[in-house]
Amino acid sequence: MPTESTFLLAGLFLLLAAAGWALGRFGERDEDEDAPPPLNIDYLKGLNFLLNEQTDQALEHFLKMVRVDDKTIETHFALGSLFRRRGEVDRAIRIHQNIIARPDLAAEQRDQALFSLAKDYLKAGLLDRAENLFVRLAEGSRYQVEALEQLCRIYEQEREWQRAIESGQKLEVLSGQSLGLQIAHYYCELAEQSVSTKDYTAARAFVKKSQSGRPRTQRGALTRARIARDTGDSKTALKLYHRIIDENTYLITEALPAMVDIHSREGSNDQMEKAMRTLLANRPAMKTDVAYTAIVNDIGGIKAIDECVEEYMLSEATLTEFVDLQTVNDSGDGDRQVALAKVRAALSKLASTIPRYQCKECGFSSQRLLWQCPSCRDWETQRPFTTVSFDSLLQRSANVQ
Ligand SMILES: [Zn+2]
Repeated sequence: MPTESTFLLAGLFLLLAAAGWALGRFGERDEDEDAPPPLNIDYLKGLNFLLNEQTDQALEHFLKMVRVDDKTIETHFALGSLFRRRGEVDRAIRIHQNIIARPDLAAEQRDQALFSLAKDYLKAGLLDRAENLFVRLAEGSRYQVEALEQLCRIYEQEREWQRAIESGQKLEVLSGQSLGLQIAHYYCELAEQSVSTKDYTAARAFVKKSQSGRPRTQRGALTRARIARDTGDSKTALKLYHRIIDENTYLITEALPAMVDIHSREGSNDQMEKAMRTLLANRPAMKTDVAYTAIVNDIGGIKAIDECVEEYMLSEATLTEFVDLQTVNDSGDGDRQVALAKVRAALSKLASTIPRYQCKECGFSSQRLLWQCPSCRDWETQRPFTTVSFDSLLQRSANVQ
């Protein structure tokens, strides 16, 4: 079966053949102004490759036949980007390399070809090669801004945060646009890397930098709290976690397990109990998040939290299909606790298969809080679902049975 590329090239051969005959511009023959327009042997050769479905040979032939010059260069660029868009990256690369190989190419056209080639490499997953070209273009070309944007994306993928910061800062200067939040997250990434190697001095320095710009990210505060917690400074850690929840209630999902851990380590569960009571009295809407976080992280033993979990389980309408809540309510206290523990264990299992966070920009959902959305690549756009929907999952399991 002839592929679309075959047809594409065949069309081009026909078009260029027509133009070539009219202008006498094919191959070496266009040098000879007096020669009659030939029944171009190159053209026939090209067609022969196409008829035999030898697309690559046909493309090579096309490139040899139609030299890059001011009149044909746009056709070459169009063909290259068409191949890239269709996912035929090798062919796009070949075409753009062919343009670059022309010795007397104008600087602007060279930059355009380098930028196109860099995008080909990116599409092919050849990040190192794409990076080299974007670095070159970022140093001085009309593609500086685009090149720096692409470099930020490459460094994000490669987790090269220091380089991402440098590119981001250059981009801010050039574009006049604030990238404060993005760069703050790059510093947080470095801080988290340092925390994971227990280099707390470096981690603190990176957190400080992450908090020096605007807008600020709560992730910096969370990392500070984590450092305090890891280094045994429970008082500071707790103060920070409380502040984080005050400023962004949704981060209770991140803060609660850490706070419970600190109080249990310090033997101060009574204080946790008191703190939770105050928190929930002020913000009763947080009960669902508290309950769900407790279920997912298997947090128990703090009465104020256990009550949230129980209330949540007994009010979740879809669960009534599976649990006879009336029986649970009517049972004696011991039986009731056993029944609730069973429901809770089942919920915990279910919860591990349901997305908990959703990007408010594009709707991408995930189980873990992701600071950068993998789909729209925005930063800090994920929020926990306001209600935990077991419906779809229960529906699915009901259909399977
Ligand atoms: Zn998104």
